[in-house]
Amino acid sequence: MILSDYGKKLTSKSGILQLMDDLGKAMSGQTKMLMLGGGNPAVIEEMQQTWLQEWERLQHDLSDFTASLAFYDTPQGSLKWRVALAELLRHRYAMPIDERNIVLTNGSQNAFFILFNLFSGRIGTQKRKVLFPLAPEYIGYADQSLDEGVFVSHPPKIELLESPFFKYHVDFDSLHLTDDVGLICVSRPTNPSGNVLTDSELRQLLTLARQHEVPLVVDNAYGAPFPGILFTEVTPFWEPGMILSMSLSKLGLPGLRTGIIIAEPEIIDVVSSAHAVMNLAGVNLGASLTMSLIKSGQILDLAQNVIKPYYFNLRNKALAHMHEAFAGRISYQVHLPEGALFLWVKFPELRITSRELYQHLKERGVLVVPGEYFFFGSDAPNPDAHCCVRLTYSQGEEVVAQAMPILAEVVEKYC
Ligand code: PLP
Repeated sequence: MILSDYGKKLTSKSGILQLMDDLGKAMSGQTKMLMLGGGNPAVIEEMQQTWLQEWERLQHDLSDFTASLAFYDTPQGSLKWRVALAELLRHRYAMPIDERNIVLTNGSQNAFFILFNLFSGRIGTQKRKVLFPLAPEYIGYADQSLDEGVFVSHPPKIELLESPFFKYHVDFDSLHLTDDVGLICVSRPTNPSGNVLTDSELRQLLTLARQHEVPLVVDNAYGAPFPGILFTEVTPFWEPGMILSMSLSKLGLPGLRTGIIIAEPEIIDVVSSAHAVMNLAGVNLGASLTMSLIKSGQILDLAQNVIKPYYFNLRNKALAHMHEAFAGRISYQVHLPEGALFLWVKFPELRITSRELYQHLKERGVLVVPGEYFFFGSDAPNPDAHCCVRLTYSQGEEVVAQAMPILAEVVEKYC
């Protein structure tokens, strides 16, 4: 098989592919594993009931049902749905938007591929870059650029909090934008660390982006106002200069592949064009299934009163199980889990790499994600890359409770 350079680039990351394969097998039940890897959202009973109700409603409305399944939508996605979302965000959060500021994509992952390749890569003899102002960042960005060497990431400032917690901050003192930066991107809440950039950090990044006339992408896959998996106060906002990315996945609908991009109309136009070239049209079902929840605003209540407390409770239980298994036995630190589904745990005395730790844990039936994968975009050594792992608590208390003592035992052996 002869693959093009792009073909090789898209298929060559064997470490990550192996990891995805392990995670996929564990999720499908092919191998019996305690699943602390992956980013699948939890199946929440009350949300399941909501989706079933909405599914029934759709079944009984023949014209909506037919439109969902039997027609290609416009490149921007359902007009009715975009009008409803824009109205909701305008009325509740004073976002200055209408339907022209929104495009639906086949999952937000698909939107990142489009955005990174529209705003970075070769322009004649120049190469434009994507800057991630706070590493570690979402593993799913790592292989999204078609050109080599376009990602640049910046190490954080680390604040030590009351033991065992620490928190990352954007290190603005050393963050200097070079002329070749074409896009800035942050996830908020951040996958993997569970960090939530403060409003002031986000505003400072937006100011920097505006000064350099490049867009700031804010990946809000877990954030406010929905799905609302964040445990600290933030102001949901969008302003010109920003590209706000949202998703229906972490509401419990990852199978419907619906991403939402909010941006200025000229950006929406180019993203829609690229999306049409790649996909012809989007998946209609995500918009149809959530239409009445968006129109009534009920989606915000579900995020606030069902999803947020569900994960908050799981997070607290996971921290308690971790403390019980680790305290007095191994040295560890945890990033303050302010949002998303993860605990980002540091073992400062670990003598092996996090990838080696991953292998040893896999042999013991526990899957985690090694920290190293989240530090793309920099060759500078970062100590956290080798001694951190990402653990998800979304698969339930029982899984976490069983896995933590095994984790403690394996880490103890290699410290
Ligand atoms: N952004 C972040 C930070 C994520 O963790 C994920 C998935 O886990 C995505 C984007 C992609 O989500 P989707 O393509 O399902 O919208």
